[in-house]
Amino acid sequence: MKRRKFLKLSVILGASALSSPPSLFSHFRGNKETPYKVLILGMDGLDPGIVSRLVQEGRLPHFKRLMAEGGFSPLGTSIPPQSPVAWSNFITGQDPGGHGIFDFMHRDPELYLPVFSGTASQEPKKTISLGHWKLPLERGQVRLLRQGKAFWQILEEHDIPSVISRMPANYPPATSQQKTLSGMGTPDIMGSYGIFNYYTTEPGEINPDIGGGRIHQVYVIGNQVEASLPGPINTFHRDRPEATAEFKVYLDPTNPVAKIVLNSDEFILQEKEWSGWRRVRFNLMPGQSVSGICQFYLKEIRPHFKLYVSAVHIDPQEPALPICTPKEYSRELVSYLGLFHTKGLPADTSALDNNVLDEAEFLHQDNGFLQESLAMLEFELKRFESGLLFFYISSTDQRQHMFWRLTDPEHPAYNPNLAQHFGQEVANIYIEMDKLLARIEKFIDSRTILIIMSDHGFNPFARGFNLNTWLFEAGYHKLRNPWKEDKGSLFENTDWSRTKAYGLGLNGLYINLKGREKLGVINPGSEYENLVRELAQRLEEIVDPATGKKPIYKAYLAREVYHGPYIEHAPDIILGFNWGYRISWASPLGKFPPAVLENNGQKWSGDHMGAAELIPGTLVANRRLLHPAASLIDVTATILHLFGVKIPPEMRGRPVLNLS
Ligand SMILES: [Zn+2]
Repeated sequence: MKRRKFLKLSVILGASALSSPPSLFSHFRGNKETPYKVLILGMDGLDPGIVSRLVQEGRLPHFKRLMAEGGFSPLGTSIPPQSPVAWSNFITGQDPGGHGIFDFMHRDPELYLPVFSGTASQEPKKTISLGHWKLPLERGQVRLLRQGKAFWQILEEHDIPSVISRMPANYPPATSQQKTLSGMGTPDIMGSYGIFNYYTTEPGEINPDIGGGRIHQVYVIGNQVEASLPGPINTFHRDRPEATAEFKVYLDPTNPVAKIVLNSDEFILQEKEWSGWRRVRFNLMPGQSVSGICQFYLKEIRPHFKLYVSAVHIDPQEPALPICTPKEYSRELVSYLGLFHTKGLPADTSALDNNVLDEAEFLHQDNGFLQESLAMLEFELKRFESGLLFFYISSTDQRQHMFWRLTDPEHPAYNPNLAQHFGQEVANIYIEMDKLLARIEKFIDSRTILIIMSDHGFNPFARGFNLNTWLFEAGYHKLRNPWKEDKGSLFENTDWSRTKAYGLGLNGLYINLKGREKLGVINPGSEYENLVRELAQRLEEIVDPATGKKPIYKAYLAREVYHGPYIEHAPDIILGFNWGYRISWASPLGKFPPAVLENNGQKWSGDHMGAAELIPGTLVANRRLLHPAASLIDVTATILHLFGVKIPPEMRGRPVLNLS
């Protein structure tokens, strides 16, 4: 997601830089020889409708063969079908009531503010001051907020080996002695979900106030540019400044080529050339520094100088924050494969959305990330002897988000010229996945069970719904100064003493409940019950005057769809949007734009926040399916069943593969 700069995690790099040295030997758990080898490819957002269509058109021959040999079915997704929620269903075999992840964002009921749902960080409480410096006497902590046991932790108890690569919603990685690498949710070195830097001499080229990136005005003086790369907050310093790494760019006076000097690193780039990964070191205090990796792209030298620098990823050789288990695993991968991306969802959707990268540049970069992942998959496949190997791919999801607009002339962000060049990019990423099936064929023997799965499908995001504006107009949300309706954000204009409900997160609606919300006004019991039902009914009745369609397909009540001990933290109502609709960009930020419904003109144009019934994921396996209506939690039960492990009672799924 984007628009999340306000959600920055406070990263406690200082503390982890002082952490204990890594242990000198690996102690991997899981040595059992298993009758089956289970290979699971998680292709985020792979849509069963698109798979079927492309198979029929003869464009996915390897999918077609696999489906004929084994099974293919839509795969029931989570409510709501957001990736952190859906993958958590898969990881734990439970719904959000059991794992506690209800949305990308949860809310702090004391402050009515959004907080990350997956991760919390805490700086060291005990410190000692020494002049300008503040030295930690204990380690800070980054905590995974997902509850429930991960299936590989259960396998580990039975000594069954697993490799879990880039699993979403697993940052920091759940405690394990299996080989795991964290995926979606892993921050960059700033502690954010990804902030690029863009250095330009063209004034006003890009609106400086964008989410997901920083725009720096620079000057060419004597064919030199001096610039600064922002890094993490320096928690060692009393004033907590941002650490920076200074760099210089020397332009060739005649040719379109430049030399970049950063720390002790020097490299040359032609115009329109990418650098590959470069290491950058941020000094925190004498003897303490953190290392990150980033890519440079020299977009233009003249007439204007334009340099893009990707988000600074955590260095897998020297991770400043935990990204894997055991500690040595990422370093082992680097020793075989070289540096690789570590940030979850590495594709720079913000840079594309804000025209810092164009479509071709975005694809070039994301293809590099994909190739890195595929090389890592192949490396693990070569040593895959026993147990389970899970591998996650994000490009399927990210390309559908960004290129959906060019597949559909009805989409508000459709552009016929761009569609000529990039109208096939959604189909192309499915074709890439088909080629991947061909590439891994040689690793699939008679013992190998291959499962391809996705967390949800896709639909157009053509119209945005301003939930908070609707609540305001319908009288459920009160503003202190209604004439300032579209000003401000994060509910700073809300009169909580008269507000009954508010929208926060991407699918959530909360009642301003007494005893739970700090300034709650609705009494638990019948007042609450009646309000929830009234709101759910009214939301489902809304009609979009521009299309005649209902934006809300289904308003789910948390207690009717969730099971488990964490239901009390759920939103009271979960909005299941209709085909083509999604929450607007502004509503999750506690804003009140004037219109309840509006077109989405952004490049981020496909999405998956609809009703779970409308956008299931995909299940393809090289074995027949026992029942076609499987869902994510059934795949979890299948894994345990394949290894002869008893399915715990809190897991509600049932095995789905026919092994006879
Ligand atoms: Zn997505």
